[in-house]
Amino acid sequence: MNLELSEEQDAVRQLAEDFVAREITPHVVEWDRAESVDKSIVKKLGALGFLGLTIPEEYGGSGGDHLAYCLVTEELGRGDSSVRGIVSVSLGLVAKTIASWGSEEQKRQWLPELTAGEAVGCFGLTEPGTGSDAGNLTTRAVRDGGGDYVINGSKMFITNGTWADVVLLFARTNDTPGHRGISAFLVPADAPGLTRRTVHGKLGLRGQATAELVLEDVRVPASTLMGPEGKGFSIAMSALAKGRMSVAAGCVGIAQAALDAAVRYAGEREQFGKSIASYQLVQELISDISVDVDAARMLTWRVADLIDRGQDFATAASTAKLFASEAAVRAANNALQVFGGYGYIDEYPVGKLVRDARVMTLYEGTSQIQKLIIGRALTGVSAF
Ligand code: FAD
Repeated sequence: MNLELSEEQDAVRQLAEDFVAREITPHVVEWDRAESVDKSIVKKLGALGFLGLTIPEEYGGSGGDHLAYCLVTEELGRGDSSVRGIVSVSLGLVAKTIASWGSEEQKRQWLPELTAGEAVGCFGLTEPGTGSDAGNLTTRAVRDGGGDYVINGSKMFITNGTWADVVLLFARTNDTPGHRGISAFLVPADAPGLTRRTVHGKLGLRGQATAELVLEDVRVPASTLMGPEGKGFSIAMSALAKGRMSVAAGCVGIAQAALDAAVRYAGEREQFGKSIASYQLVQELISDISVDVDAARMLTWRVADLIDRGQDFATAASTAKLFASEAAVRAANNALQVFGGYGYIDEYPVGKLVRDARVMTLYEGTSQIQKLIIGRALTGVSAF
């Protein structure tokens, strides 16, 4: 693996850095307090090609490799994890999954709009009663006499939920217990019977549109089924394996933001007549953050390299996600310590980094679940 970025990769990273400085950083505090990112950001992300990375150009994508995707995701995560999550879900979990598993008709229907930021996608797997145990989900899709499916159930914590135009929805299509009875559907979000409620009061990612979805007799044509009936759980797991790289890259961004803020503040703040940067214990906090940034970034880039070379990447993705998410929590917390009491108020950036980082060890598989995935790969024994 070559660790030196190509000219194209560096250019896209720079584009993302400039975009964050211009379109995100000036609004971060306001969006966090208002509990909503300005939705116009979606079209701006689309216009720069950030919602089409790795998607073939014939479907409106902007091409590029997975390392470029990681670089953009890291920069967005450095700016605001609420914005980064829009891309990780609409592109990473939805558009990329349609590109891999969708029919030609489904690709033509959804990819040009999703990649342009004209439409938003959300990923509906988690339910109130099934989070880590997603294979036991209970939302049901029953085929009626005319060939349509009628879907009933509810989904919880769905990122982009209230903004979405299409839901990549996982529902049980037969009574086989566990994951074998699950199928994937591309449900238009305006389908009659589908209601969305905003989840308020989140600790972090406050600007992000997180929703509960309730489906009551939602009727969809058979053409909304994505992939073979009964393959839905495999589709969900393949989406999440790649998604974990994107979360990890976002975590690198959080940790890098923590490092930047801590170094800057340590150089400005004086106590006992000297810059706090001159104290060894403050330097320890900063160097711990720096080691976490570097290690998390390398693990994340390794996943991108494996994907681009067509190698198995799922265990490496769990490793990167596990380490980077825990590292982001540590890094943000260390940065807050450097800021002292000022870190505790939201005029300074590090408090938000702590709040935003905290969910990274929970979603797309908790840290415990990543350990079980890694343990299963190493021992050949499933402890689920
Ligand atoms: P539980 O599964 O109930 O876990 C509770 C605790 O038990 C955890 O510590 C867990 O690690 C532990 N645990 C569970 N099973 C085991 C086991 N076998 N061994 C050891 N420990 C175990 N979901 C979506 O489908 N789409 C989204 O877009 C989405 N976005 C989200 C956004 C936010 C802000 C949040 C908070 C969640 C989001 N989620 C989404 C849901 C997320 O993926 C789940 O919250 C996560 O999978 C954990 O499920 P749970 O919350 O039900 O926790």
